[in-house]
Amino acid sequence: MPTNPITRRDFIRTGTAASAAAVLRPKTRPFAGPVAIASGNGLAAVARAVEEINAGADALDAVIAGVNLVEEDPNDTSVGYGGLPNADGIVELDSAVMHGPTGRAGAVASIQGIKYPSKVAQHVLQRTDHVLLVAKGAQEFARMHGFPIENLLTDRAREIWVRWRENLSNRDDYLPPHGPEDRDLGEAMRRNYDHWGTIHCSAIDLQGNISSVTTTSGLAFKIPGRVGDSPIIGAGLYCDNEVGAAGSTGRGEANLENCSSFLIVERMRMGDSPEQACLYACERIAQHTHLARLQNEAGEPAFNVSFYALNKAGEVAGARIRGKGRMAVADANGSRHIDMAYLYA
Ligand code: ASP
Repeated sequence: MPTNPITRRDFIRTGTAASAAAVLRPKTRPFAGPVAIASGNGLAAVARAVEEINAGADALDAVIAGVNLVEEDPNDTSVGYGGLPNADGIVELDSAVMHGPTGRAGAVASIQGIKYPSKVAQHVLQRTDHVLLVAKGAQEFARMHGFPIENLLTDRAREIWVRWRENLSNRDDYLPPHGPEDRDLGEAMRRNYDHWGTIHCSAIDLQGNISSVTTTSGLAFKIPGRVGDSPIIGAGLYCDNEVGAAGSTGRGEANLENCSSFLIVERMRMGDSPEQACLYACERIAQHTHLARLQNEAGEPAFNVSFYALNKAGEVAGARIRGKGRMAVADANGSRHIDMAYLYA
């Protein structure tokens, strides 16, 4: 009897572990410096994130501190306080965070009355064994941790909602401002593809660890209870500490249907640059957009989705389905906007 027999099962186990390690192995060298990326509305957020990292913060705390600036900004009508409400005039927020070193995630969806949903998502990650809390349960959980319940609907956002409601149809009883000679008040709403807005932010800290956050008030005037891609891990963001991170803004339904952020990180794992990986996700969405109502006359997606990605080596890029766009970046050279690639002009 041999002293150290390797059974067939051990052999298979060892073989499987070895091939799994090969698949997961990073293709890029570790990066030893801070870098943060965000959607175009995140210039102050990336600057804050890098500042926090330089002061010793973990990437997760840093990106959350960055997006908090936009969540509390009443002038950004796409995120947190001041965000445009749902069809009933109620602000419902979605957010998710992902922490590379632990591989853990936390998220809240359709949460009302909480100004910093990204912080609640971080509490879900750190103080529960769950990943996603929704609606009333998410709000109760936030309250348990001392988050105040606040009115998030600013006058500006309320007035935009009232204008939307009054012009939605000329077959209901809500009337926009009008004079005695006006007839046929209100009109069928133009397809509201421009009613999106969100902030995504990912960063690498001084230890080379990667984390991500996405936070939003979601699609303006959405059906109450609608959840977008932002709080869904793999759709609105994804992060792998050995490979990189990706996040998105734009038509969330397309990301939910294509697991886009996960796809981008997996493409980077296979060797794509961040830009190639983001363009790949844009192409995937275009290939999967079959319905005429979602296409323009050329058969291309009539909507937009933007992707932002960084890899372990600190390379950053973004891409959109339609048209030119800019994203925010901060590193040792300061913060700035950079151009994104695109699929269709
Ligand atoms: N992706 C977000 C959502 O669908 C909205 C946005 O990015 O503008 O909820």
